Amino acid sequence: MTKPRVIYWFRTDLRLHDSPALQAALDLDPAVLWPVFTWDPHYVYRVRGGLNRWQFLLDCQNDLSKSITKLNPKSKLFVLREGPQTLFKKLFKAWKVTHLVFEKDTDVYGRERDAVVVKAAEEAGVKVVVRSGRTLWDSDEVVKKNNGKPTMSIAQLQHAGERVGDIPRPIAAPKSLPDPGEMPVDFEQDEPDRQPDFNEPRREGKDTAYKDIAGPKGDFAIETMEELGFPSATTSIRGGESLALKALGKIIEDKKYTATFEKPKTSPAQFEPQATTLLSPFLHFGALSVREFFWRVQDVVTEYGKGASSPPMSLTGQLYFRDMYFAAQAALGAPFHQTATNPYVRFVPWHLPSKRDATSGMVTGEYHVDSEEAEVWFKRWRNGVTGFPWIDALMRQLKEEGWIHHLGRHSVACFLTRGGCYVDWERGAEVFEEWLLDHEPACNAGNWQWLSCTAFFAQYYRCYSPISFGQKWDKEGALIRKYVPELKDLDKKYIYEPWKAPIADQKKAGVRVQGDGLGDREKGTYPKPMFDFSERRNVCISGLKKAYAVGLHGNDAQVLNGTWRDL
Ligand code: FAD
Repeated sequence: MTKPRVIYWFRTDLRLHDSPALQAALDLDPAVLWPVFTWDPHYVYRVRGGLNRWQFLLDCQNDLSKSITKLNPKSKLFVLREGPQTLFKKLFKAWKVTHLVFEKDTDVYGRERDAVVVKAAEEAGVKVVVRSGRTLWDSDEVVKKNNGKPTMSIAQLQHAGERVGDIPRPIAAPKSLPDPGEMPVDFEQDEPDRQPDFNEPRREGKDTAYKDIAGPKGDFAIETMEELGFPSATTSIRGGESLALKALGKIIEDKKYTATFEKPKTSPAQFEPQATTLLSPFLHFGALSVREFFWRVQDVVTEYGKGASSPPMSLTGQLYFRDMYFAAQAALGAPFHQTATNPYVRFVPWHLPSKRDATSGMVTGEYHVDSEEAEVWFKRWRNGVTGFPWIDALMRQLKEEGWIHHLGRHSVACFLTRGGCYVDWERGAEVFEEWLLDHEPACNAGNWQWLSCTAFFAQYYRCYSPISFGQKWDKEGALIRKYVPELKDLDKKYIYEPWKAPIADQKKAGVRVQGDGLGDREKGTYPKPMFDFSERRNVCISGLKKAYAVGLHGNDAQVLNGTWRDL
C-alpha cells in the first residue's frame, strides 16, 4: 500500500507544541507532508485586521517556519497565495494528495470555509482529518453537554466541560517532520492579479491580494509588511511560538503570581510590564496552546496548595471564560454576533432614535438610528479625544499597542454603551475587531454583550466612572502621561479632570483645555470633556431600567420589524 501524501493546513494553530491535529497528521505515517498556510481573501478584505495584528501574524508564521525547518531542512511553512475554497481542489489533483489535516475552527466564517474545502476533498477522494485543539474542551461537545444551548455562565461551562471529560494534557512537539513532496502550481489561478490596498473598505467575494500562488519568487515565501504595501506597525508586542513559550515559562517561574492570580486585583493602569499575562494574542493565533497554558498553571496551583486562587478569578478561570464564549458562539453560529438575531441578547434602543411615526409615536425603519450628538461621541471615543483622560489613554493605548488590560476594556466599553454615550455595543466591537491583536470573534462579541449588560451580566446600575475608577489604580496618572502626552506635565490633582485645572496650572503644564478634539487640533491643547458624566450615567441607567422592564430580546418580532415602542 502506498503511504499517505498529506497536506497539513495551518490556520488557528501556528505552533508545533501540543497540536493534536499535527500529531494526527504524523500518525498517518506520511510519505510526504506539506505544511501549508493559505492566504485568505476574507482575512485581507472582510476582517478589518489592523497593521499591528498583521505584524503579529507574520511574526508567528516566520517563527513557525523556522521551527519546521529545524526539524527538516527541506521543509518550511509554505505560503500559498489564494483563497482555500478555490485553491485546494487544484492542489489535491496536482500534488496527488491523499489526506488533508487541520485543527477545528468553530468561528462562523471558519465553519463556512471549511465546509467548502471538505466538500472539495470528498469530491477528489481526499480524506479529511480534523482535531479540536483551540479550546480546553471541544466547543461542539460542550454545547451537546449543555443540551444544545449556549453557555451563558462560567458555572454552565464548567458543568458541561466536566461532562465532556478531563481537559487533555498537552502533547509534545514532534522531533522530526517528513519531507514535503513536489509542489507544482502551474494550474490556472482563479483570482485577479491585484495587490492589496490596506485603506480599501471591507470587500466581499473572491478578490485576492496576491500575484501568483507561490509568490513573486516562486518560493512560497512569507510576505513582509513592505511587500504587502503596509506602513510599519506601531506596537512593541511581537509574535511567535518561541516568544509565547518563553513568556509562559517566565510566568510559571513566578509560582506565587501564577497560583494566587486574581483578575479583579490586577491593575489596568499598569504597563511595562502589564499586570496580566499578555498571552491572549499568542492564543489567538494558536502560537500558544491553551491546554499547555492551562496545565502548566494548574500544576503550579496543585503544588502551591492552600492559598491558591480558584476560578473564575484565577488564571485557569480566565481560560474558562474564553471557552465559555467559544461554546456560546458554537451553539448560536452567526446569530451570536448581532442583537437583531441573538435571542439571548437584550434589546436596548441605544441612543436617541430620530425617526418616528408622527401619529403613533412608534419608531420606524432601522432601529440603529444614530443621533448626531451620539455620532460625535462615538468618533471622539474612537479617536481618544473624549476629554476624559482615562478613557483617552486607554483608547490610544489600544490603537498604538493592539492590547489593553481587561479592566481597561471594561472602562471604555462601559463608557461607550451603558455608562456614558449610550451607543450600540456592536459599533464598539467593530473598533476592537480592527485594533486588537487578540481579536477573537467569540470573545469580543461576548465581552461587549457582557459590558453593555445585554447578555451574560445584568447589573447595569454598576458603572465605571472615567475619573474615580482610574484614580483608584493610578493616583499619579502614569498611564495617562504615557498615552496622552499633552497632559504629561499636569499636576496629579487635575490629571483625571484637566478641565478643573486653573488657567495658571494649565499654562504651567504647557496645555490648554479647549475644543472638541476633532478636526485639526491646535498644538498644546487637550479637549474639554464631551459631557457631564454624572448626568449621562443617570440617563443611561434609566434607559437600561426601562429596557429591562420591557424585556425585549434581539430576535423578538417587534424588534425585527422595527415597531418596538419607545423605551
Ligand atoms: P489574562 O488575564 O492573563 O488571562 C489569560 C487568558 O485568559 C487570556 O489570554 C485570554 O485568552 C483568557 N481570558 C481572560 N479574560 C477573558 C475574558 N473575559 N474573555 C475571554 N477570554 C479571557 N479577549 C480575547 O482574547 N479576544 C477578544 O477579542 C477580546 N475582546 C474583549 C472585548 C471586551 C469589551 C472586553 C471587556 C474583553 C475582551 N477580551 C477579549 C477579554 C480579555 O480582556 C482579554 O482576553 C485579556 O485582557 C487578555 O489579556 P491577558 O492575556 O493578559 O489576559
